[in-house]
Amino acid sequence: MTRFIFITGGVVSSLGKGLASAVLGSLLQSRGYKVRLRKLDPYLNVDPGTMSPTQHGEVFVTDDGAETDLDLGHYERFTGVVTKKTDNVTTGRIYSDVLARERRGDYLGATIQVIPHVTDAIKAFVKNDITDEDFVLCEIGGTVGDIESLPFLEAIRQLRNELGGSGSCIIHVTLLPFIHAAGELKTKPTQHSVKELQSVGLQPDILLCRTEQPVPIELKNKIGQFCNVNAADVIIAEDVSSIYTVPLAYHEQGFDTQICHHFNLENKKPNLKRWLSIADAYEHPEGKITIAIVGKYTSLQDSYKSLGEAIAHGGIANKLRVEVEWIDSEVFETENNDILSYHLSNISGLLVPGGFGKRGAEGKINAIRFARQRQIPFLGICFGMQMAVLETARTLGNLPKANSSEFGRGGDLLVGLMTEWIADNSVEKRTHLDDMGGTMRLGAYPCNIKEDSLASKIYNDCQISERHRHRYEVNINFKEHLEKAGLYISGFSPDGALPEIVERRDHPFFIAVQFHPELKSKPFQPHPLFTEFVSAAGKHLRLV
Ligand code: GLN
Repeated sequence: MTRFIFITGGVVSSLGKGLASAVLGSLLQSRGYKVRLRKLDPYLNVDPGTMSPTQHGEVFVTDDGAETDLDLGHYERFTGVVTKKTDNVTTGRIYSDVLARERRGDYLGATIQVIPHVTDAIKAFVKNDITDEDFVLCEIGGTVGDIESLPFLEAIRQLRNELGGSGSCIIHVTLLPFIHAAGELKTKPTQHSVKELQSVGLQPDILLCRTEQPVPIELKNKIGQFCNVNAADVIIAEDVSSIYTVPLAYHEQGFDTQICHHFNLENKKPNLKRWLSIADAYEHPEGKITIAIVGKYTSLQDSYKSLGEAIAHGGIANKLRVEVEWIDSEVFETENNDILSYHLSNISGLLVPGGFGKRGAEGKINAIRFARQRQIPFLGICFGMQMAVLETARTLGNLPKANSSEFGRGGDLLVGLMTEWIADNSVEKRTHLDDMGGTMRLGAYPCNIKEDSLASKIYNDCQISERHRHRYEVNINFKEHLEKAGLYISGFSPDGALPEIVERRDHPFFIAVQFHPELKSKPFQPHPLFTEFVSAAGKHLRLV
């Protein structure tokens, strides 16, 4: 029997609802249950693919090629369960499907309304594509009270009636603000938020209260009383030093125990060995390194969420604490080498991540040149690989006008718009006139690695699969030219048409990839590219 857990949020956003859902998923797994996690997003975009990363954070790409909310990254990293297209939906997607059906005449002349047509589509999404999972956890984006989330909450109200308390559970994540002037924790915002939820017919079963201070038992009792919840079901989620200790902290507060109690499940002892050893490795590093991330969206670190996590995983694997220096690449758009020296001389490694558009591109190229010449470990990802190719072609390949068609049509186009590629044995075609949304090369694709390469040593394999999200590619016709300039192409698409990995042999660690390895890294299974990058960075410059 599949049980449904709905996770809503109140008071303010950014309370870590996504993390709490992921953590609960992993705690249920540690008791032997099979879980699946989903996110319902109230905004009107059809998916987050076209949204600015500095507004909405990273776009997380699934194996099956969906562009999804970054919380799906938390779900995968904490549970290891591979997310799918069917795990994230937006109001925009629901409406566009309902309207497409209306145009087709599927509703046989009915008047289309939020209830039942939109709510039915939401319910169908929640219940779709489930096999033998013990629990499906559905997180509702946004905060109760938002206009956009009303249809989702109404759909949950209906599902709750269908499934009953034994088949469903509603968790509400709220905030207990600490008022410094009064020296007091306040429960009123939580009370109001629960009232708001009750006003749409939902009574939470469990409250997860985020707080920066310990909460006395009397306050817990008070929250329970005012919010119509048992005091034991008021779970205190106090701030902790790192996200890797959250599973242990929430377990200690009884989060998973109360969930099992709610569903009348036997209170098995969870096996938390995995989280104990990760927390220990993270909390007791043997040294410290600094990685510079030179990118375009550095003002919001959520833009590179999975990247920051994957680097931390590399640190866990090497018992190193990794500090990240986020640098806007535009500061390097200068002839002045002193600025590069000032920022990059004392780093252990350079990472140039994915990105879009011309702004800041020259700064990335300059940073890559600095790392190549100074033998600083370098990892390039997607756009980072494209910029590494331009740097080599310009500096060592006698092509000073090497360019990407993403920046215009001039120069030697070593990076060009991908007009066709093979996906699952069929050819995908694109032109520059296509829509922006959902038209990139998206999702998992196989890559063959040359045996005599750093990449094959890192992966310990010559056939891999990694996730993609890009429109442009390195032009294979320049292969010889690049290789003469010392940039070895060590990974290709199976048909040999698309370069996937480039590396240098005259450098301790210089590798760049067209895909996004950060999307598959997990704290209990760090991605080998990040493990080896951090290891090389530790050898280059490490503090004790
Ligand atoms: N803008 C580049 C492309 O579309 C790189 C994309 C990325 O880094 N994800 O190919």
